[in-house]
Amino acid sequence: MDYANYIKSVMDFPTKGINFRDITSLLEEGPVYRAAINDLAAFAESKNAEIVVGPEARGFVIGGPVAYSLGIGFVPVRKPGKLPREVATVSYKKEYGIDTLCIHKDSIKPGQRVLVTDDLLATGGTIEATIKLVEQLGGVVAGVAFLIELTGLGGSELLKDYDVLSLINY
Ligand code: IMP
Repeated sequence: MDYANYIKSVMDFPTKGINFRDITSLLEEGPVYRAAINDLAAFAESKNAEIVVGPEARGFVIGGPVAYSLGIGFVPVRKPGKLPREVATVSYKKEYGIDTLCIHKDSIKPGQRVLVTDDLLATGGTIEATIKLVEQLGGVVAGVAFLIELTGLGGSELLKDYDVLSLINY
């Protein structure tokens, strides 16, 4: 299936010069959403993933259904102050300022094989921070999966040591 047909591109959002790739138009089409999740789940299964990790908020819309379809767990990665139990944290540089992401410390077991997933790979900052959290807890990144990869922004270079699947490339 050509998933790109279901992505709407919005010029100058959220700021001038950005061509925003909107996944919500794909999510609205049930059979297309399901097919995309099934493809990502097949990839996770082929890597023997035992648990799925995704950053808020769109990582939940991808990672949750992948975990559900495989009957394995899902672990949310969130901004500070959202997770109630003890957390591990990683801070990373964004275009403007520093961002921090957190994960429950006891959510991944050492040696556990993890599928790391998000809706979209751009510079790779978000997914790199998520991977650092998984590895801090002793998890093994079995694969990294996206609906969309924006090429030429450095994300794939950051992930060159991992098995990566992107359903759409721009
Ligand atoms: P990165 O950290 O630069 O790789 O940016 C990826 C993160 O920003 C993901 O969590 C995306 O949800 C979000 N993002 C960046 N650009 C877009 C876009 O064009 N469409 C949708 N989400 C985007």
